[in-house]
Amino acid sequence: AKFVYDFTEGNKDLKDLLGGKGANLAEMTNLGLPVPPGFTITTEACKVYLDSGAEPVALRDEVGAHLDALEKKMGKKLGQADDPLLVSVRSGAKFSMPGMMDTVLNIGLSDKSVQGLAKQAGDERFAWDSYRRLIQMFGKTVLDVDGDLFEDALEKAKHAKKVTVDTDLDAADLKKLVTRFKKIVKTEAGRDFPQDPREQMDLAIHAVFDSWNTDRAKLYRRQERIPGDLGTAVNVCSMVFGNLGPDSGTGVAFTRDPASGHQGVYGDYLQNAQGEDVVAGIRNTVPLAELEQIDKKSYDQLMQIMETLENHYKDLCDIEFTIERGQLWMLQTRVGKRTAGAAFRIATQLVDQGLIDEAEALQRVTGAQLAQLMFPRFDDEAKVELLGRGIAASPGAAVGKAVFDTYTAIKWSRSGEKVILVRRETNPDDLDGMIAAEGILTSRGGKTSHAAVVARGMGKTCVCGAEELNVDTKRRRLTVGDVVVEEGDTISIDGSTGKVYLGEVPVVPSPVVEYFEGRMHAGADDADELVGAVHRIMAYADRVRRLRVRANADNAEDALRARRFGAQGIGLCRTEHMFLGERREMVEKLILADTDTEREESLKQLLPLQKQDFVELFEAMDGLPVTIRLLDPPLHEFLPDITELSVRVALAESRQDNNENDLRLLQAVHRLHEQNPMLGLRGVRLGLVIPGLFAMQVRAIAEAAAARKNAKGDPRAEVMIPLVGTVQELEIVREEADRVIAEVQEQSGVQLKLAIGTMIELPRAALTAGQIAEAAQFFSFGTNDLTQTVWGFSRDDVEASFFTAYLEKGIFGVSPFETIDKDGVGSLVRSAVEAGRATRPDLKLGVCGEHGGDPESVHFFHEVGLDYVSCSPFRIPVARLEAGRAAS
Ligand code: PEP
Ligand code: MG
Repeated sequence: AKFVYDFTEGNKDLKDLLGGKGANLAEMTNLGLPVPPGFTITTEACKVYLDSGAEPVALRDEVGAHLDALEKKMGKKLGQADDPLLVSVRSGAKFSMPGMMDTVLNIGLSDKSVQGLAKQAGDERFAWDSYRRLIQMFGKTVLDVDGDLFEDALEKAKHAKKVTVDTDLDAADLKKLVTRFKKIVKTEAGRDFPQDPREQMDLAIHAVFDSWNTDRAKLYRRQERIPGDLGTAVNVCSMVFGNLGPDSGTGVAFTRDPASGHQGVYGDYLQNAQGEDVVAGIRNTVPLAELEQIDKKSYDQLMQIMETLENHYKDLCDIEFTIERGQLWMLQTRVGKRTAGAAFRIATQLVDQGLIDEAEALQRVTGAQLAQLMFPRFDDEAKVELLGRGIAASPGAAVGKAVFDTYTAIKWSRSGEKVILVRRETNPDDLDGMIAAEGILTSRGGKTSHAAVVARGMGKTCVCGAEELNVDTKRRRLTVGDVVVEEGDTISIDGSTGKVYLGEVPVVPSPVVEYFEGRMHAGADDADELVGAVHRIMAYADRVRRLRVRANADNAEDALRARRFGAQGIGLCRTEHMFLGERREMVEKLILADTDTEREESLKQLLPLQKQDFVELFEAMDGLPVTIRLLDPPLHEFLPDITELSVRVALAESRQDNNENDLRLLQAVHRLHEQNPMLGLRGVRLGLVIPGLFAMQVRAIAEAAAARKNAKGDPRAEVMIPLVGTVQELEIVREEADRVIAEVQEQSGVQLKLAIGTMIELPRAALTAGQIAEAAQFFSFGTNDLTQTVWGFSRDDVEASFFTAYLEKGIFGVSPFETIDKDGVGSLVRSAVEAGRATRPDLKLGVCGEHGGDPESVHFFHEVGLDYVSCSPFRIPVARLEAGRAAS
């Protein structure tokens, strides 16, 4: 294999091999743009090095040959005493990992060549400054010397001279500093700073390879879900200098505004400086537009190049450049990061410019970005007092009174207060407090901390790791400098930016949601412009997608909202949600009924209520399918809490006023108590054990459908049986359902076409899907329970308990309850789809677990050939968009 590519040999599509930076440097070189010559060592070489501990044998000679060629091109040799060629050695992985990996500049400088550089540049100060930078960077990144030692020495030198900025040190000062730095290297690393330029280069290359596996790089990759075995490429590039005087400088630029997408001149420039000075914020940059006054020729050339790059990449690019004595050099470009709003705007702008087509526009935005745009946000215009800043862990804008423990969070929220739970970090004991709070704020921990993971799972706003905040849970307050926030003081947290504010910041609804709700239309101002872009992208997605999108909804209000958001029916109506509140007692009676008469009595009470529910639902979803799932949850959810009841009975006994009812209830609760209710008497098992329950529900559905038909409506009911494990269960329920439906048809004189199907949410159901399809007209994959049972993970517990540890260890990058586990759960879905269709080619297939609204999972469901996904109303636009992206 070939391990080294000249910049003239690569291109932008070779990111796997050359890394992002190398591939784009090659692309720019081939476009004829001014890129300093150089070459790229491939990720393959890095992999060999990391696997075997030594670089591939051929690498030394290949690098040598490319170095020769580079020296010829530049007319000077690496480290040549009278006129040295200097190079930079930079990392560059396939995916950008900002600040994670190593770079060494000015390689080739030595005690000898520093003199040559001084003469060539006509600037002694510059040469010694470059040399001291090399020893510093090399010492730190290659020889593992503590970087603070160099910084301290530099500070000391400035202090001794009573100056504050580096540029006030002259050549003599820097010469002394170089001697000092070399001593630091010698004592700390136990070796001299290498004077041989090739040795410098080789060691720097190895250091870049090694930096792939530092702890922070590994952590970053896990968080960003970047595979750990890609390795990094290494770019060796001839140095150009932005610090050679006022006619030199360095800058960054965007081909359009990454915040709004608007075209214009965006970027920063720093005169007489090198790249690290910009990043380190040592001196203040000026807006890029000012370069026009400083160096019109370079400015015009840069504008020209930016246009070339945009037209070539057909996207927003960001750029790093350096001007060396009036000559412009391109050091890097890549397709630039942008805000969610800008992503939508830019995609449609590029369509209008004729640069990309609609299918490509769909690939330029993501469901996650759309979801971000749907959160309410703080009013930009509001006056705010910033308290601090943490990690934007779970988006949204939350306002509430600061509380410092779970107990208070629950107590206050029960009395109607909005609270923000503030902790140093959270642990599973805080779960109830987190549920009660509007948002969660911690001073420690990153994106995979307990607080972050759990909050995202709950869709709750969270800012974590706000380190400036001093959280004192004992004294129930937090302090930042001399600002004190006591328990009960209002704070506002922005989970999309990580900012924390004192007091109440007004929240404005998302314009995108206003648009989906039909309250806002595309127009001219800024929010309207965003809405216009979203509108167009959604239209493309709807045009191309194959998957239909339905809603999980169990009341007319949710159904109507879902419809406005574009739902094409209801994929899951959880009927247990209709038995809460005052109806719970009727179900309790039903469960406890001793005689048929008692039982029939309570069923008779429930029937009209259920029927009315369904009439409303069918009306809201008129003309679209509505899948109604028969009662699913474990019985105990309808019975009083066993501990509370025991206490009540015991108290009554001690007062000797025996309450017959409570006693009977307690016996029943004991009788029905289960250690593992989720694996117990629920779903179809309930229907088979409680006579008349499912029949009543089917009757309510059928009568409601008949009533809607009589009212000239178009009800499209589908009856769904939950938690089926074997076709026999389904057959028994189906027989009864068919009988009830026939009865209702007869009684009402209305012809009904009700589909009867089942959920596939147990491994056995998936494994015997071919048999089950004999009795089912449709399948809906219940991937919540399927994930629970395939992994043996309790869906109610694990995310709050050990998932943080699992995520930190990289066992998975995301909870399998959030994104479908393709290899395990997904493969069961895939085979069940095939087996089901083999039995019944027109079997309708959908999914109604939480995964139905998860972007990555939607792509999977598209690929395995489902007909629809069903998700909560708020996620419908995201599912529509991702279904479109999957199909285009
Ligand atoms: C499921 O298990 O995926 C499902 C949709 O049903 P529920 O979440 O109500 O158990
Ligand atoms: Mg389920």
